[in-house]
Amino acid sequence: MLKTSKAERMELYKDRQTQVLLGKFLNGEIDRLEPDYDPRSGYRYRIVEEVVSDQTKAEALLDRLYGAGILERKLHDKIIFCPKCSSASISIHYCCPYCKSYDIQKSSLIEHVKCGYMDIEANFRRGDKLVCPKCHDELRKPEIDYRRAGVWCTCKDCGKSFDIPVAALFCRECHGDFTFEDIVIKDVYSYSIKKEAKEEASLGWTLIGPLRQFLQENGFKVDAPSFLKGKSGANHMFDIVARKGDTAKKVTVIDLATSTQPAVSEQPVIALFAKIFDVSPGNAYLIAIPRMTENAKKMAELYNIQVVEARNEKELIKTLKEKMK
Ligand SMILES: [Zn+2]
Ligand SMILES: [Zn+2]
Ligand SMILES: [Zn+2]
Repeated sequence: MLKTSKAERMELYKDRQTQVLLGKFLNGEIDRLEPDYDPRSGYRYRIVEEVVSDQTKAEALLDRLYGAGILERKLHDKIIFCPKCSSASISIHYCCPYCKSYDIQKSSLIEHVKCGYMDIEANFRRGDKLVCPKCHDELRKPEIDYRRAGVWCTCKDCGKSFDIPVAALFCRECHGDFTFEDIVIKDVYSYSIKKEAKEEASLGWTLIGPLRQFLQENGFKVDAPSFLKGKSGANHMFDIVARKGDTAKKVTVIDLATSTQPAVSEQPVIALFAKIFDVSPGNAYLIAIPRMTENAKKMAELYNIQVVEARNEKELIKTLKEKMK
């Protein structure tokens, strides 16, 4: 995974819709996300549409999650859209190469092994028997008396015969005819969550729940995630915003920083500082999972950010309890 996409992933993990969708991957509700076929609009990811409440937004979210390296995808199908009305209800018409009519009759060619006579099946048919029109023998055993020698088509409009028809596309919605050149083809994917993303995401989230509970038990009203407006007028997002009492101006803001490397670097400290500089909360906590580099800790101290290092839920609550006293 690229470094730039790592930052993007961290942003996405904070997004509510992403959280709901990835939650379904993490709790096993979705193993592989496969689209359902819808004759009008093509393929749809209904479970994602429920999360984002819109079909186009569903695909945009999946694209973003794929681009950031959270989801991986596999080609599921290719879908053809009508160039005129964008319907996905397209059928293939096999046409006569001479007059382009699609009113053609497909037959199989039969060869009588003994006399070598070859014709379409209909000309051998006598009731439920097959009889050679040339030598009048009955054809009983396939592969011994006779063999099938391919297909043969006859055009019901112009009467000509041919073996390979030409394909044309027909839109069932607007009744337009198209060739391969005209149509729009779109790749359709199935998705699954990447192993690394699964670890990253679950690490952060498994802690938000207990953290919220701990704060509520201590008399805080908790929003996670939540936006606060700064002096500049900009809105800043925090993983957790906790308030005590209705009139209290002083809020506590908490961000979570996880690292798959040994320790969390200065980056989340700088990001949190930029936000608290504008918002001026009463307290700011940065939870570093599993721990934070010495440089980052020094910087946090300078910025008046309290650091809580924790490898798991138990450590987190214990340390936070001490810090909040
Ligand atoms: Zn024809
Ligand atoms: Zn014969
Ligand atoms: Zn159409």
